[in-house]
Amino acid sequence: MKKGRKNECAGRAGEETVTRRGFLRASLDACAAAACAAAAFGLCGFAPGDRQRAESSVFRNRAPKKLWRWSKEAYHYRKTGRNVTCLVCPNECTLRPGDRSICRNKVYLDGKLYTLAYGNPCAVHIDPMEKKPLFHFYPATRIFSIATAGCNLRCLNCQNWSISQSSPEETENYDLPPQEVVRAATAGGCLSVAYTYSEPTAFYEYMFDTARLARERGLKNVWVTNGYINETPLKELCKYIDAANIDLKSFEEGIYSRLNAGRLRPVLNTIETCREEGVWFEITNLVIPGWTDDLDMIARMCHWLCERGFEEYPLHFSRFFPMHRLTHLFPTPVETLREAGRIAGREGMKYVYLGNIPEAGAQDTVCPGCGAVVVKREGYVVTRYEITKEGTCRFCGEVIRGVWGSV
Ligand code: SF4
Repeated sequence: MKKGRKNECAGRAGEETVTRRGFLRASLDACAAAACAAAAFGLCGFAPGDRQRAESSVFRNRAPKKLWRWSKEAYHYRKTGRNVTCLVCPNECTLRPGDRSICRNKVYLDGKLYTLAYGNPCAVHIDPMEKKPLFHFYPATRIFSIATAGCNLRCLNCQNWSISQSSPEETENYDLPPQEVVRAATAGGCLSVAYTYSEPTAFYEYMFDTARLARERGLKNVWVTNGYINETPLKELCKYIDAANIDLKSFEEGIYSRLNAGRLRPVLNTIETCREEGVWFEITNLVIPGWTDDLDMIARMCHWLCERGFEEYPLHFSRFFPMHRLTHLFPTPVETLREAGRIAGREGMKYVYLGNIPEAGAQDTVCPGCGAVVVKREGYVVTRYEITKEGTCRFCGEVIRGVWGSV
């Protein structure tokens, strides 16, 4: 697995690619500085969400002059006169010759729509399954994780903005075609491959071909996604995806528009389609102060999930830390997360987890039948496992929904 050179023609001249570690360190420094400044002035770190707005548009005349070896003709697009329209996600970018898509990964050149993100991940790592997070899918197994640059949304809070808001020419990339991903995953003792970190829908073709090959070779596929995808490409993809973690970023169209430059309805459709297609999934809801911490909205979201029979799909409330364009906010108060968890329980959600907080028990799986802890987690480590191979509680026999493997 070789790292490729940056495309110096298309990359930003003289700019260092931000490494993930460097980015995290810089972000933590910025957080600390912001917190100190706010404390000094007696501020609470809170700003109303309506002062900022996420926006997205096609990049006119921003395609490279020529394609590179990591290009491939796109799937799911149609010609519209002199232009082309990508049909992979609800953005449905219409490109004129020489344009680049909202996700930065697609260009219209030589009469065809091409992806520039095929076999060139900028992030490659072996993670524990619990990091995705997936708590009810083969716990304590290793998962080979890849991401390319690019994303179809513009979340103000993005924690991976250094890659999600970059084009593939701006990141340092590995040379890893689908067969190499599968080989490396197998050699690394991984049960599964994850398409993750940035938004895999933005590297749909690479994910699709890799997932198909991985399935053929006996590996599982995990899609960690914002759920912002159209139905036809989603149904095609579901043939090869075993599990997903789907972000449900809020439960209001207005917030989706201002915070993420997206829409809620397509994400709800994705949740429904994944169930219809037999894909196991868990939902993540990031609670951001001033944006997505309205407890009435959280109650409506949980009510919707229960009303439609999703109460046995795990729901992860995740704590926000200041990132990207929301560095002026403070982290979510832990009590807000606890209250969100209580609301979800009252509405009927059976498996509710609180993430990014150091609280004992917040990530344990509790049997809804007898109340016993059937999976205990400390960080990403499973320290106790009381689920039978049939997927039932070892104490009372209650079915614990999920896809359980031996731990
Ligand atoms: S996948 Fe990319 S190119 Fe296709 S519609 Fe979405 S943002 Fe546009």
